[in-house]
Amino acid sequence: TLSDRLAETFKNLRTKGKLSPADVDSTVREIRRALLDADVALEVVKDFTGKVRERALGDEVNKALNPAQQVVQIVNEELVQILGGTQRRLEFAKKPPTIIMLAGLQGAGKTTLAGKLAKWLAKDNHTPLLVAADLQRPNAVNQLQIVGGQAGVPVFAPEPGNGVGNPVKVAKDSIKFATDKLYDTVIIDTAGRLGVDADMMKQAADIRRAVDPDEVLFVIDAMIGQDAVATARAFQEGVDFTGVVLTKLDGDARGGAALSVASVTGRPIIFASTGETLDDFEPFYPDRMASRILDLGDVLSLIEQAQSAFDEEEARAVAEKFATDSFTLEDFLKQMQQLRNVGSIKKMMGMLPGAGGLKQQLENFDEKEIVRTEAIIQSMTKAERQNPKLLNGSRRLRIARGSGMTVTDVNSLIQRFEQASKMMKTVAKGGVPNVPGMGPI
Ligand code: GDP
Ligand code: MG
Repeated sequence: TLSDRLAETFKNLRTKGKLSPADVDSTVREIRRALLDADVALEVVKDFTGKVRERALGDEVNKALNPAQQVVQIVNEELVQILGGTQRRLEFAKKPPTIIMLAGLQGAGKTTLAGKLAKWLAKDNHTPLLVAADLQRPNAVNQLQIVGGQAGVPVFAPEPGNGVGNPVKVAKDSIKFATDKLYDTVIIDTAGRLGVDADMMKQAADIRRAVDPDEVLFVIDAMIGQDAVATARAFQEGVDFTGVVLTKLDGDARGGAALSVASVTGRPIIFASTGETLDDFEPFYPDRMASRILDLGDVLSLIEQAQSAFDEEEARAVAEKFATDSFTLEDFLKQMQQLRNVGSIKKMMGMLPGAGGLKQQLENFDEKEIVRTEAIIQSMTKAERQNPKLLNGSRRLRIARGSGMTVTDVNSLIQRFEQASKMMKTVAKGGVPNVPGMGPI
């Protein structure tokens, strides 16, 4: 997966701190390969990796505390951007009924989606009407009626002598019917063919022209892979649409189609269909799909948490102190207090693959220890905090009494401080900026 590949690439970068153009290129190469594996169209991959490369070579990465993390974040941000940025909601007409037309290839999941959408709207206090304007296949009307029955939503269908074989008339009549009967949304199911087909496009375009929908939703199977771009372009030219619905996301498709379609059409993905039953349906969230494509969800949220908890400048200053040997017990205390701010560190570490060593360390980490450390350090004089070498036996005894701890507690704290200083000094000199407890991913 992409995350495995990135992890592998980043493992090599981790020891370096800074990224060279060659590092960026090899990382971008991995991203490119992984996206192609996820069935993202080649032209989209090229465009995407171009953008990532440009940003990765720029200042934001060079100046970042952890360049590898920064690159992951850039990849994520660009993915979210292409996928539409924020979630796009369904547009409702100012004057009902709101008209929603579905278009897409046969088998894409339009009829199923019609039912899902109807049920979802009904639950949200709307009064939808389903319209059977797929008169191509003998069973299509019947299928919509079954779906309508499951959703508890009525279906407008042609009757003998009225609209049979004429989907444009059925669609038009349905709007008048909905207006008269006060249905507030009309969902028009249309016919698709197995492949892009001029007749099908014309029929859909005619329906569109006849009813002037508020939304035209292009329904596409996420498993379609590399064909997604050509299909989406054909529908955009032939019918045009206001939004996209991605179906069959319950399969093992990695979401490459989503990226391709959103990228080449510039249309937002509005819903995701995730199974055969009517409840397998949800609004589409670009950030979640980006995580799915990256397969890095938890790691990314971890990065965010860590970044908000640790001010980068502060961390840099600490790294410098380590390097120059001016790290004091006061700094140590501040670090521990910051760790507490991160909240449940153990849980965070649980989300981190490959943080084995750190995880172990944190297994032993105890919140109460922060409190004890605080008490001990606060019982020291300023001079002692600045220069732990002053801490002889009698001073340690005084501090133990003052803080309600034992001399052993005081000794163990000083020992841990010295260990941390030593370890961090090595790390800092090795050129990898770091803070205690927060290693690079
Ligand atoms: P249409 O030809 O575009 O109207 O497609 P249908 O709604 O008839 O769906 C075609 C097939 O795909 C049916 O067997 C559906 O049950 C199935 N299907 C539709 N949406 C989904 C989905 O999100 N997940 C899965 N697994 N199957 C789906
Ligand atoms: Mg259908």
